[in-house]
Amino acid sequence: MEETCGCHIATGDLLRKEIKDKTELGLKATDFMNRGDLVPDDLIIEILNKKLESNECKKGSIFDGFPRTVEQAKKLDDLLSKKGQTIEKVINFEVNDEILIDRIAGRRIHESSGRSYHIHYNPPKKAGFDDITGEPLIQRKDDQLDTVKNRLENYHKLTKPVLNYYQGSGNLYNLNAQRPIDEVWKDIASQVLF
Ligand code: AMP
Repeated sequence: MEETCGCHIATGDLLRKEIKDKTELGLKATDFMNRGDLVPDDLIIEILNKKLESNECKKGSIFDGFPRTVEQAKKLDDLLSKKGQTIEKVINFEVNDEILIDRIAGRRIHESSGRSYHIHYNPPKKAGFDDITGEPLIQRKDDQLDTVKNRLENYHKLTKPVLNYYQGSGNLYNLNAQRPIDEVWKDIASQVLF
């Protein structure tokens, strides 16, 4: 995806890197993330701004897990318009809550690379270990059931309104993401990206 679209900016990954590097921003974000709450908008915009300035992101970017509030969506428009850029497409991955809980609670991560697996739907070759390095996989604290439920509540309250924000723009693409990964990917590649 990076080859075609510039850089992949996942705000969750950026935050986890700040936490790992023990930066001030990471420290401020930790409790929000562990509870499954959204990190305040000003911290997210700060981290995003830093990433957008990097050379790899000059061609364009895919934002993943961002914007998660209407305020972030507005700030993103401001930031892009200052660079003479606009949003080409917004992809909404539609999955009902029950399936989402099952997917997130079964997710396992290889911490240093970010490679992600699912215990049933995308299992590693050897249960509990990364395919490439053979290192152990972990479950993120915020992927545990209670935290996932809080994250979903926050999604309905704070993130869903972002869809209305983009609805009128004509570039919102609603994608049925309840299908197997390869079908979803084909849909993205054929109908959305190219
Ligand atoms: P993710 O890896 O996308 O599931 O994000 C993990 C956690 O990071 C979320 O539950 C939030 O606490 C925080 N986070 C990630 N992206 C954002 C964002 N755009 N706005 C606010 N909080 C975020």
